[in-house]
Amino acid sequence: MDKLLIFSKKDLLSSILNKDFSVLAKSITAIENQSSNYQKLINDLYVHRKKSHKIGITGPPGSGKSTITSKIVTKYLNENNSVAVICVDPSSSFNGGAILGDRIRMQEVYGHKNVFIRSLATRGSLGGMTNSIADIEVLLEAFGFDVIIYETVGVGQIEIDVANYADSLVLVLTPESGDDIQMMKAGLIEFASIIAINKSDRPGASKMKLVLEQVVSFNDSDWAIPIVETVALQNKNIDTLCANISKHYSFLVEGNLLDKKNNQKYLQSIIRIIKDDSLKKSLNSKSMEIINNELLKPVNKRISPSDMFLRLKK
Ligand code: GDP
Repeated sequence: MDKLLIFSKKDLLSSILNKDFSVLAKSITAIENQSSNYQKLINDLYVHRKKSHKIGITGPPGSGKSTITSKIVTKYLNENNSVAVICVDPSSSFNGGAILGDRIRMQEVYGHKNVFIRSLATRGSLGGMTNSIADIEVLLEAFGFDVIIYETVGVGQIEIDVANYADSLVLVLTPESGDDIQMMKAGLIEFASIIAINKSDRPGASKMKLVLEQVVSFNDSDWAIPIVETVALQNKNIDTLCANISKHYSFLVEGNLLDKKNNQKYLQSIIRIIKDDSLKKSLNSKSMEIINNELLKPVNKRISPSDMFLRLKK
């Protein structure tokens, strides 16, 4: 049974507004499962959102994202902020292992009263993930978290989507990331707000910094991407990293760029809903029957896909 059904809608709303962690966790599960009754909750919560600072943390596997996230979270908690960490893992499936994984990855902060940590699996659907994140963000902002961190696992398309979702994006590389930089030139680097060269206790960090300075010098934005050499394991330069994250947020606010970004996100959400709706309409059972009939014909006897679209629209 859908666990959310045990709450009345009014209870659900007030539980989120009263910061009930277990209801928050169940509501996120409902969103992941696309349960039908969660959308009303999201709609009701929409006006209760508080502005959270959304930080994306991305980079190749093993670069130290979890370690950095855990240090950043500790710092924010020590400064009396509440923090939600959403770990987006395109490769993981629902097997119950995620929670254990979170506990191990975030040992330092797991269980703190002001932190909420949750892994999300993508179930192989890119669009689905963005929709889920958009809804989960409403929940977290209504809950009142000061900071929301989106941590991703790799450097693929989902990471770029999530990067676009965060206000500030930290790209975590290492002194050995030469190949990754080639791979990411066209992708993530241009979205980065701050680059951390983590594991700077290893040789090659300053050389990597020179290479990266060269790469980011082509960026024509008014924001000069800071490059910070960190050693997350020793908490080294995490303060500098956080200071740059705050500076980036101020830059966004002062230049009205945050409002612009939020307007874009709003518009994109509406477009996604329209697309989903029309997809549902065009792919109902009657239209699937029409398509299947066409598929029975030899390839050269079929009408074109665009003619099919017009026929389905009738
Ligand atoms: P993720 O896959 O990007 O989340 O990377 P993790 O945070 O899991 O870190 C991968 C490995 O690198 C772990 O064994 C960490 O202990 C280690 N690590 C993280 N930060 C540093 C660092 O600054 N220096 C060194 N030498 N190792 C680090």
